[in-house]
Amino acid sequence: MSTERITIFDTTLRDGEQAPGFSMRTSEKLHLARQLAALGVDVLEAGFPIASDADAEAVRMIATHVQGPVVAGLARCHEKDIDRAGWSLAPAPRRRIHVFIATSDLHLERKLRISRQECLDSAVAAIRRARRYTDDVQFSAEDATRSDPEFLWRIVEAVIHAGARTINLPDTVGYSTPDEIRAFFRTIIGRVPSSDQVTWSTHCHDDLGLAVANSLSAIEGGARQVECTINGIGERAGNASLEEIVMAMRVRGDRLPFTTGVATREIFASSQLLSSVTGESVQANKAIVGRNAFAHEAGIHQDGMLKDRRTYEIMRPEEVGVPQATLVLGKHSGRHAVQRRCELIGITLERRELDVVYRAVIEHADREKVVTDRDLGAIARRLTTTAATPPHVPLPDVNTTPAEVGYGHGV
Ligand code: MN
Repeated sequence: MSTERITIFDTTLRDGEQAPGFSMRTSEKLHLARQLAALGVDVLEAGFPIASDADAEAVRMIATHVQGPVVAGLARCHEKDIDRAGWSLAPAPRRRIHVFIATSDLHLERKLRISRQECLDSAVAAIRRARRYTDDVQFSAEDATRSDPEFLWRIVEAVIHAGARTINLPDTVGYSTPDEIRAFFRTIIGRVPSSDQVTWSTHCHDDLGLAVANSLSAIEGGARQVECTINGIGERAGNASLEEIVMAMRVRGDRLPFTTGVATREIFASSQLLSSVTGESVQANKAIVGRNAFAHEAGIHQDGMLKDRRTYEIMRPEEVGVPQATLVLGKHSGRHAVQRRCELIGITLERRELDVVYRAVIEHADREKVVTDRDLGAIARRLTTTAATPPHVPLPDVNTTPAEVGYGHGV
């Protein structure tokens, strides 16, 4: 069976970071961005540069220092947003400006208070302006799944002519169902005359727990880019979880004949790094990355596992980088165990750094008996990232302050 390659667009550092409790400092975003590059995401949405000076600086830092993925930045259809995104992304060899505007009547009438024609005109103008900074421009029709399909295909056709290369149809409020979103993509793609000139993208939210199912259905409907986050973090109930989408395609290639460029063995380290940076742990029963995802406690299950793992395991933990035997760190642990454990949570230490972290781990173990992954992550970041953070880059003057922007949700 032939398989098609799906573009993984990671928005952990943008949609994910917008969620309460998940905000990150620039040095932390840079650290995570490097891990996402190691994970092999195709597009890394690094932030929303107009939202704050810190956001712009973080995007600029990632565009400067992270190699591999296309680096993307979000912008509303405002000149200052696009210019700020263009400046922030300039150092990246491959950069994408991600322009969005709401297209549902509810958002147009109640939030933006503009007509459909004004919406279409500003979208076209914004795409043209974004093209001054890069050929790689993405358009998102916020609240697409609740928009009038007739207006939606007209605005999409117009932005393709203006130069958009990727068209994202977000289920911004997590309202769709799998059958509905599959038909929705088929309908819109079928109606847009220039549909074969662009990559279609899906961006689903988990308000009804359907984000991953809806994303996979949208792919069946013709989407070839999927927007997702590590641990499924994101606005409200979160976004579609990257690890679940990638592993569903890998484990069920018979039903989902699609591949990605993700190095699945980096999944667990990415998940752990994100929780240690944000201080928000993953729920124990979370698919793929929760601490119970590969745990077997019931006697009959353990018996089956010992006879043949396939009785109760549809994928091997090592495929997603979950360590086979947990190394417990205590005061008798050696440098090698500390180094190995750091690698498993996504932190690579140089020799000098290892000495410093090792001593701190032993001191911690003297006080607390055991050193959890979260303790270890905190120790390693405290002792190593400050020195590793590149110098501050001043912002250009674009006559905006974050207070006057009021940027809201995004897509
Ligand atoms: Mn979103």
